[in-house]
Amino acid sequence: AIPLVVAISTSVSAQNGLLIRNRTAFEESRKITVLLFDKTGTLTKGDFGVTRIESVNDKFSKEEVLRLSSALEQSSEHPIAVGIIKKVKEDKVEIPKPENFNAITGKGVEATVEGKEVKVVSPGYLRDEKINIPEDAYRDAAETIVFVLIEGELAGYIALADEIRPESAEAIKIFKQNNIKVLMATGDNEKTAKAVSDKLGLDGYYSEVLPHQKVEIVKELESKGEFVAMTGDGVNDAPALAQANVGIAVGSGTDVAAETADIILVNSNPQDIANLILFGKATYNKMI
Ligand code: ADP
Ligand code: MG
Repeated sequence: AIPLVVAISTSVSAQNGLLIRNRTAFEESRKITVLLFDKTGTLTKGDFGVTRIESVNDKFSKEEVLRLSSALEQSSEHPIAVGIIKKVKEDKVEIPKPENFNAITGKGVEATVEGKEVKVVSPGYLRDEKINIPEDAYRDAAETIVFVLIEGELAGYIALADEIRPESAEAIKIFKQNNIKVLMATGDNEKTAKAVSDKLGLDGYYSEVLPHQKVEIVKELESKGEFVAMTGDGVNDAPALAQANVGIAVGSGTDVAAETADIILVNSNPQDIANLILFGKATYNKMI
């Protein structure tokens, strides 16, 4: 038989944007001491819009930087890719066909377009390849920048902006009132991560995190005695979701993440996690 509290909690949570896959997750939620959030699509809306396109190489115009990038981004599901394709469609640019498309895990995408080798990548990729980052790229900390390489040369960059979800601040207030530390792990750059962290008053953040590093972060927190809940969306997040004491897959994410997680956050809304924790505490306090 399903214990009464589980039956009640499951139906309550279903109305509140949560799908509990693992029955013990509801009970465990009141033990959480650290919440490790991903950024894009959970603390922020995940709805990127292009704010600037710059050329840094006379051989390629801004239009060419965008047009060649769009060939790659058409094959990617990353929120950055969705933002770039939205812009290309607005500008009525004809998207060229890519060949040999490849996702560079945690760093970007690459393909051959019209015979040229094109890459759209993170600042971390440029650093690894010892390519200088243009000085004026980071004039606005809130922007996420992706760099466009053509035949191995930096051609330009595309700046995009996302917004913090209004519900995030409210949720974080509740976590703090309950002595839960709130951390963020993101693949995005240091400046953008810091801007989001400062705005929301987080207890800390990890930036330019590669997918395999998330497991290490969770393990390290757990070894310090923390009871860790973590949110994630991608295939790459699955090992970390499995490692966390409570793995939370966000609704917009992939099936692989959802299959590994204890809880699915249907609307990707952090406030639903806050409600779960409050409800969990209230329920079990009454029983004891
Ligand atoms: P996150 O989910 O936190 O954004 P990812 O591992 O998905 O982390 O991506 C890390 C970084 O890699 C992004 O911030 C971006 O710089 C780069 N990147 C990933 N996918 C793409 C893409 N399709 N186009 C351009 N850049 C990308
Ligand atoms: Mg991701």
